[in-house]
Amino acid sequence: MDKQAMLRQIEQLQDRIGEFYQELGELKLLISDLIEENGQLALENVKLRERARLYAEEKTPIQGEAARYLGQLYEDGFHICNVNYGSLRKGECLFCLQSLQRV
Ligand SMILES: [Zn+2]
Repeated sequence: MDKQAMLRQIEQLQDRIGEFYQELGELKLLISDLIEENGQLALENVKLRERARLYAEEKTPIQGEAARYLGQLYEDGFHICNVNYGSLRKGECLFCLQSLQRV
């Protein structure tokens, strides 16, 4: 291989490394956003679990916005009971149904 061809090859490698570096930076930003979003969702989940626990402890009927929200959440396939609140539901859950009866 002549020296000119080697030089061209090195330049091509430099270009590819530059592209990799840029791609790496973009992935880093994306992961940073995902970590932040995950943190917010985890916090929201904690608050919702706490709210569900309070609803579950109350014996009074759940009404209005909360009732609609819980009903929709159950229809969307999530637990609304304080045992498994927020996790994906596989089939019916007696605890959830008990919660829904108060809605
Ligand atoms: Zn459940």
